[in-house]
Amino acid sequence: MIAGDDKADVVIIGAGAAGLCAALAAREAGLSVTVLERDAEPAGNTAMTLGMLPGAGTRFQREKGIEDSPELFLADIMKKAKGKTDEHLARAVAQASGPAVEWLHDRHGVHFELLDDILYPGHAVHRYHVPKSRTGVEMEANLLAAAKAAGARIVTGALVQNLFAAEDGRVEVVGYSLNGEDKAIGAGAIVLATGGYGADTSIVAQHIPGMAEAVYCGHHGSTGDALRWGEALGAATADLGGYQGHCVADGPNLPVTWALVIRGGFQVNNTGKRFSNEMSGYSEQASEVLDQPGGTAWTIYDKRCEEPALTFQDYHRVLESGSVMTAESIGELAAKIGVPHEALQASFDQVRAAIDGVTADRFGRDFTDVSPLEGPFLAVRVRGALFHTQGGLMVDTSARVLRPDGSALPNLFAAGGAARGLSGPASYGYLGGNGLLTAVVLGRFAGEGAAALLGHARQTK
Ligand SMILES: Cc1cc2nc3c(=O)[nH]c(=O)nc-3n(C[C@H](O)[C@H](O)[C@H](O)COP(=O)(O)OP(=O)(O)OC[C@H]3O[C@@H](n4cnc5c(N)ncnc54)[C@H](O)[C@@H]3O)c2cc1C
Repeated sequence: MIAGDDKADVVIIGAGAAGLCAALAAREAGLSVTVLERDAEPAGNTAMTLGMLPGAGTRFQREKGIEDSPELFLADIMKKAKGKTDEHLARAVAQASGPAVEWLHDRHGVHFELLDDILYPGHAVHRYHVPKSRTGVEMEANLLAAAKAAGARIVTGALVQNLFAAEDGRVEVVGYSLNGEDKAIGAGAIVLATGGYGADTSIVAQHIPGMAEAVYCGHHGSTGDALRWGEALGAATADLGGYQGHCVADGPNLPVTWALVIRGGFQVNNTGKRFSNEMSGYSEQASEVLDQPGGTAWTIYDKRCEEPALTFQDYHRVLESGSVMTAESIGELAAKIGVPHEALQASFDQVRAAIDGVTADRFGRDFTDVSPLEGPFLAVRVRGALFHTQGGLMVDTSARVLRPDGSALPNLFAAGGAARGLSGPASYGYLGGNGLLTAVVLGRFAGEGAAALLGHARQTK
């Protein structure tokens, strides 16, 4: 395939957080950049998030007196993944996480503030940074504006179909279709930033069979293209069973924030019984819920638990959908949600006994510092859903794609959902924020790595 006159130092495939951060870093180094995005309006999974990006040791944290460090963050990542991830990569990402937040905010106008009203499971301290509106839509819009302002060429409606490589694996030309017309562009380096494979049910069935029937709530573009291209070029893959699950309101399939659970909310199945430690992590809770009769459960909470959720637009959509039930008493709640009163009362009593320190929670949840729920009680029926996949192409700390023998492919980089994440081989390893973290940080690594490969010194530090 001949690219004709069209070429760029770096061709980036996908305009989510990973691709746009790669574009920013490559432009800073003076490279010419073309980003090819299949959708007319770039959004990706990035726009579907709450924009919660973890970063350790930022000035936003220091301003609020929060002591954090890359070591503490690394420890949290490794603990959640039960040690089953690449510690070397995790260390590099944790170290670069705080600087990446400040880089986007200070240099590129991608605004963040610290989310410090509620501590999410698995994080030792408050380290989520969020856009003002607490939406990924704002984050994606800001990233896109920044990439354009930095001089990246963004081609939308461009579905990449082929990578054309020389015998040594060097990708020389990228083939794509634009409004039905076949196009090609030559490249010095390629960044795969196409997201994961959650939208391809056959790949999900192969690697995550337990979630094959689950509702998929991610972006339609996560069709596993990077995985297919990488494998064809001889790349190694890792952790293909890793993913982020979540609970969604049954029916409208809207994400139900875990903020409802953190201050003492809990879940019961349709027999009125609790079934797990809800604070192990929201990702693994999705499959716990799917294992319950009917594949659903009720998240039960009160007005105090609801307070932090009200700061998220997503939760307002759940309220507007009519999915939330309200009841003045436990008896009324049991009747409204259709579970046996006695069993629901017993669940409330067990939680109360754990809060009061009378008996330990039988599922091992730590109820220290949690208050008992008080009426009016609220409840939403939830179902386990697949949000995004975490496995992908093996990369090094420059985001270069690796072969099984550890050698790097000549000019191929991967970031975000296209690359292997930091969450190990299953849902239990997903520490909240791992998704945007590896999109932003590995994206930046990829842009810088491409610059190093192509011999451009970074113009600014
Ligand atoms: C509902 C939801 C909530 C989430 N909340 C959070 C959160 O708060 N914090 C967090 O850390 N993570 C969260 N995640 C995970 C997070 O969204 C992802 O990990 C992250 O956005 C990945 O970024 P990315 O750039 O790799 O992929 P994406 O943002 O999905 O971007 C990939 C882009 O590539 C394009 N593309 C794909 N194939 C091609 C092709 N062949 N040619 C051209 N373009 C292509 C797609 O259209 C897409 O625009 C959430 C996910 C979901 C679904």
